[in-house]
Amino acid sequence: MKREAKTSNWRERASTLQLRTEAFIDGKYQPAASGETFVCINPATGKSIGQIAACSSRDVDVAVASARRAFEDGHWSRMAPGSRKKILLRFSELIRKHREELALTETLDMGKPISDSLKIDIPGAARCIAWYAEAIDKVYDEIAPTPHDTLALITREPVGVVGAIVPWNFPLLMASWKLGPALATGNSVVLKPSEKSPLTALRIAEIAIEAGLPEGVFNVVPGFGHTAGEALALHMDVDCIAFTGSTRIGRRMLEYSGRSNMKRIWLECGGKSPNIVMADVADLERAAKAAAMGIFFNQGEMCSAASRLLVHESIRDEMLDRIVAIGESMAPGDPLDPATKLGAIVDQAQMNTVLGYIESGRKGGANLRSGGRRVREESGGFFVEPTVFDGVQMDMRIAREEVFGPVLSALTFKSLNEAVKMANDVMYGLAAAVWTRDLATAHRVAKSIRAGTVFVNCYDADDITVPFGGFKQSGNGRDKSLHALHKYTELKTTWIDLS
Ligand code: NAD
Ligand code: MN
Repeated sequence: MKREAKTSNWRERASTLQLRTEAFIDGKYQPAASGETFVCINPATGKSIGQIAACSSRDVDVAVASARRAFEDGHWSRMAPGSRKKILLRFSELIRKHREELALTETLDMGKPISDSLKIDIPGAARCIAWYAEAIDKVYDEIAPTPHDTLALITREPVGVVGAIVPWNFPLLMASWKLGPALATGNSVVLKPSEKSPLTALRIAEIAIEAGLPEGVFNVVPGFGHTAGEALALHMDVDCIAFTGSTRIGRRMLEYSGRSNMKRIWLECGGKSPNIVMADVADLERAAKAAAMGIFFNQGEMCSAASRLLVHESIRDEMLDRIVAIGESMAPGDPLDPATKLGAIVDQAQMNTVLGYIESGRKGGANLRSGGRRVREESGGFFVEPTVFDGVQMDMRIAREEVFGPVLSALTFKSLNEAVKMANDVMYGLAAAVWTRDLATAHRVAKSIRAGTVFVNCYDADDITVPFGGFKQSGNGRDKSLHALHKYTELKTTWIDLS
């Protein structure tokens, strides 16, 4: 009863929610110059929740010009770090204050469970902004050990106009991982949210102004990748692109840079992360839970998803039985139900991609242990069951390609060396995990896996204090932690002759 009451509360609030649907440029909401819009779909119902300004290169030009003007006038870029800190802390506080509205917006826009939006996405975004705010008046520059009659200062300056292009799986959180360090270091930002999830980015633009961010410092241009995204990445007056998205489009960012002004390109791309469970795992139940959450959390729409389970053959059945049981207890549900653990896939196209991979697994000879179907079709939404394949071989597509859905591929190994070889045998290198009681095994695996993060006896441990990003074709540079500040600053040497 109680739960139903809560779900209906969220539904009621959804029906009266005021959404921001226009571009935010130079401190104001405005329609696209062309007047064009695109439809925003709630993936839990398949129904429209709004028409969003479809920005093109004309809008991007205006937004970049505004960002440049704001950068040059120095109100933000040359503001004392302690003052920027105050404004960003207020920004973070206001995000927290609007937590429920933003969480609801995120859930309606991209289908994730309301409990996750409330507990993870929105507080995570607020914490990220606050963390960089707190950090920025505590980082010092350097003086080089040059000869006595010289002084060489090594300082960092904001890079200028940052274009941020982000995906739909954690819309506000991924945007915040760019906004936090980029704004704290004094840059202006033009944010291009995913066309599948533009709403929270549009809403926080006015919240930032309310917090005291000068107009033009933060602009949001919703639109498609091949229009707004391409215009931003090709723009001659954008100094840096901070991209999170697929490896295929990430590669294109590098081309755009080469074809335009050699802007800095930072890429957070896809993954096919191996989760290695050794025969000496201390707690099989915990490992199974983490393996299941590692692939089913956020409908499997996770760059760091534990999408490949590499399990020692001696414990395969025990491990898989447990994962299957957890998967079966996570049937997709209404994202507005606070008890729902698995929501809707972001849109029909992505659902079809996921179902296509499931089909390819079946046809390729993998063994479907559970799930595999679209469900809740009567809702009009796009829901896929938690799905587990075993008997997967490394030459299958479901062993090598990123599905970006709740689909686990289980492979077995006999020796540690074989596991490490399989782990490294993909083009990605975002995350990995090893479960073992043996300290030497843990360290050996951690050292031999080419990935940005290696978890030992856990999965998806997460904190703003640690860098996150990929080796190989999972990208370059790192989001989060103080290391992210480097992406948004240029290093300058100032030589002074004292003789
Ligand atoms: P995507 O690459 O399709 O799109 C990402 C962004 O790029 C969107 O805003 C999109 O509109 C834009 N875009 C698309 N085509 C473009 C073009 N030609 N020019 C300029 N911009 C263009 O990715 P997606 O489907 O939105 O997100 C899923 C992907 O994101 C997965 O591969 C996932 O692994 C990755 N991801 C990575 C991380 C990470 O931190 N490494 C985090 C989250 C998601
Ligand atoms: Mn949407």
